[in-house]
Amino acid sequence: MEKTKIIVTSTEDNTFCKCQLCDKTIAEFKNDIMIPSAEECYKSGNVPVPNFGWFCSQKCALDYETKFDIKFGRTKDGKVGQTMKTSTSE
Ligand SMILES: [Zn+2]
Repeated sequence: MEKTKIIVTSTEDNTFCKCQLCDKTIAEFKNDIMIPSAEECYKSGNVPVPNFGWFCSQKCALDYETKFDIKFGRTKDGKVGQTMKTSTSE
């Protein structure tokens, strides 16, 4: 199984992965390692959007879509983002 890579845009002093809408900190980066891991963030309800970034919740993702008039991908159950494989499913 291949791990999904999430591209996160970062500015010079930004070592935090933040919600793209409300700016809530989701995770921290140390030497390109995401803490907590993408998997942990996903499990705790944060929303990964491929080639875009993260939202802290489905609500923020939906609000962002409305605000900027765009559509993100959906998971099979109709949620924004993608279904991530977690190690427990291996
Ligand atoms: Zn948010």
